[in-house]
Amino acid sequence: INFRRAEYLISAQTFAQCPSEEGAEVAFAGRSNAGKSSAINRLTDNGKLARTSKTPGRTQLLNFFSLGTATLRLVDLPGYGYAKVPLAKKNEWQRHLSEYLQKRKSLMGLVLLMDIRHPLRDFDMMMLSWAAEMGMPVHILLTKSDKLKRGAAKTSLLEVRKYLTTENLTDLVSVQLFSASNGDGVSELEGVMRDWLLP
Ligand code: GDP
Repeated sequence: INFRRAEYLISAQTFAQCPSEEGAEVAFAGRSNAGKSSAINRLTDNGKLARTSKTPGRTQLLNFFSLGTATLRLVDLPGYGYAKVPLAKKNEWQRHLSEYLQKRKSLMGLVLLMDIRHPLRDFDMMMLSWAAEMGMPVHILLTKSDKLKRGAAKTSLLEVRKYLTTENLTDLVSVQLFSASNGDGVSELEGVMRDWLLP
């Protein structure tokens, strides 16, 4: 596994178009503006990678990247909450997304990104309940942690942990602070992904 040798592989509009299930992958999801592109760029040390996913027309797709080898992959799931996307399109996309999450054998875990200033919004809850239903491990990144003072960031982390405890999700879901700006939490994220991809 080599995060610094990530390369764009392919985009898939539907489950059927996904590449072979050989190997293992980790998917990144988050509301639009949660900081997903910045996180992927920071992790891979490649400022161009996730921009690929923002190319108009590609935003509704699953974008696959290899991590040093094609059998270890990062999957960029489209951001959610574009006001401009019509409801029918959103529903269609949600179907493809849930099919991917339910059926994809090579999917080892989900990295769910939330802006630390407003975590646990509707989309996040939906993803967490899907994951719980399927027994899929989730690792939450509270992004842009540099926007808050240390104490406030810690408070936010504890609040999310408290929620996970209340909802009985602690076996399946973990959470950390992350900042693409100052690199806070990058190595912790790498550790989680390594454990998922190379068990
Ligand atoms: P995406 O829509 O989830 O891919 O979000 P982006 O990565 O494009 O980020 C959305 C906005 O948040 C941009 O203006 C970024 O510059 C900003 N941003 C992303 N990550 C960070 C971070 O770690 N710290 C700060 N301060 N801003 C960030």
